[in-house]
Amino acid sequence: MNTRNPTMSLYCGTFFRRKSFECYRLLSTYVTKARYLFELKEDDEACRKAQQTGVFYLFHDLDPLLQASGHRYLVPRLSRAELEGLLGKFGQDSQRIEDSVLLGCSNQQEAWFALDLGLKSASSPRVSLPKSEMEAELGGSFIKLRQAVFQLSSADSSLLFTAQALLRWHDNHQFCSKSGQPTQKNMAGSKRVCPSNKIIYYPQMAPVVITLVSDGARCLLARQSSFPKGLYSALAGFCDIGLSGINLSVCR
Ligand SMILES: [Zn+2]
Repeated sequence: MNTRNPTMSLYCGTFFRRKSFECYRLLSTYVTKARYLFELKEDDEACRKAQQTGVFYLFHDLDPLLQASGHRYLVPRLSRAELEGLLGKFGQDSQRIEDSVLLGCSNQQEAWFALDLGLKSASSPRVSLPKSEMEAELGGSFIKLRQAVFQLSSADSSLLFTAQALLRWHDNHQFCSKSGQPTQKNMAGSKRVCPSNKIIYYPQMAPVVITLVSDGARCLLARQSSFPKGLYSALAGFCDIGLSGINLSVCR
């Protein structure tokens, strides 16, 4: 006797077809975005064009611009026109926008950039814009990211930490370690090149390990004195070259 329920079979078939279509759509969107970002990293003109329609996250000396909203922080994003207006008020031209670094893009290929207007450059005449005047102009505050992390959404904090790490890397790699000459950022900020000996520098990846020690009901946490009040962390550390997995039980 055939015990299959034709209605159930039809339902399952439709469900799995829909699921596989959804998976295909997500994969397709991911690939499209990855290709677009790769193009922006490799092609300065394409990236310059993306800056026309993109949005900008502002930083001052590596602190992001945030706006308080109740107990939360919102992260303002400026359009190109808004950014040009701001720069104009502080006597800067739109050339400064090319100091920005690419962070990612939306599914609709709206590019996201981060720009620090507080960092000075040792290799160019770039000036630090006054923080308090900018805050008054923008209706927000430049706040230490670690202090604000619990008042941000996880998506915002992830993006801002990425932006901060990339901005810091550029600030720390303005000169070639071999020739001492100033290095130049490509438009997207995915690399820096020394014009004198053509060495290319890429942002560093730092391998880390994080471990949660638990007896099932409880877990071991630690904190540094620099952490904000109430912040505890699982044990974590950076991996040195050649460090074996066994030695990673040491928390630095
Ligand atoms: Zn060099």
